[in-house]
Amino acid sequence: YAKKKKGTAIQVFNSTLLSAFKEDAQIERDLHSAIRGRQFELYYQPLRDLEQNTYIGAEALIRWHHPKRGVLFPASFIDIAEQSGMINSIGSWVLEAACRQLNLWQHHNADMTMHVNVSARQFFSGNLFEQVWQLLTRYRLKPKTLILEITETELMGDIRHATFLCQELAELGVGLAIDDFGTGYSSMRYLKQFPISKLKIDRSFISDLTVSRESREIVSAIIAMASALNISLTAEGVETLEQEAFLAKSFCHQAQGYLYSPALREPEFAQFILSAKSPSVLTH
Ligand code: C2E
Ligand code: MG
Ligand code: MG
Ligand code: MG
Repeated sequence: YAKKKKGTAIQVFNSTLLSAFKEDAQIERDLHSAIRGRQFELYYQPLRDLEQNTYIGAEALIRWHHPKRGVLFPASFIDIAEQSGMINSIGSWVLEAACRQLNLWQHHNADMTMHVNVSARQFFSGNLFEQVWQLLTRYRLKPKTLILEITETELMGDIRHATFLCQELAELGVGLAIDDFGTGYSSMRYLKQFPISKLKIDRSFISDLTVSRESREIVSAIIAMASALNISLTAEGVETLEQEAFLAKSFCHQAQGYLYSPALREPEFAQFILSAKSPSVLTH
């Protein structure tokens, strides 16, 4: 890329940086009208229970139908939303949409669970407890069927405050999951301190499972630790039957990944669940 330009490396760097900056500023402006314009949509990725061989719920993943750019994935706008503070209104929209959907699913299967990603800013905003409480009431959800996913790094940012907020949420009865587990630096000590109900093993370990003995050791250690602390586990990014087989024989109880399905729009998700051989899910 640099070779094509005639300027010095510094000029190329500056112009690249400048255009990235302009692009971010444009995304930020566009985000303002995205909620009102109903441009966000939740997609749902099925979560599989490896012991029961059924789908037990979904993780809600946001997509943005940008009027000019087409479908945008969270990687291209969540950080910008987080920095600009807009993540709070986006996060509220996500929670509401996910709970409304969960209520509909639960008409058919009362045990369906919904995982919702919560950003650091949203988590520490001070409104989350109130909002979750209202949604549980409005949509008559059993608290444990809603699981909030927070990354390790987010929690470790302010451990004291995070412990307090987690305790409050745990008292409501909702599940708390640490997302991308293994990529941050939580210690056993903090895992014991936080009322965490689930760990999601980061997909970087899963993708290496069949080729790296180290990754297998790490995953086995995480599984042993979670079981000792009575915390449930989901493996993220399961793409092959070999990975699934290793996880199942190591007693990792839940899995999520392209092996089963990518995130789907609502009608396709319901269809997927119905057609999967899982008699107890979304049927009477
Ligand atoms: P995450 O919470 O760790 O979600 C898992 C990501 O891995 C999703 O990407 C999913 O589509 C992808 N994935 C699932 N299975 C596989 C697989 O087998 N292989 C591979 N290579 N990837 C797989 P997505 O939807 O692009 O989301 C990326 C991240 O954006 C999420 O990571 C989450 O941190 C964030 N995010 C998504 N939705 C929301 C939201 O509503 N609010 C907030 N605050 N963050 C969100
Ligand atoms: Mg997640
Ligand atoms: Mg993750
Ligand atoms: Mg993540």
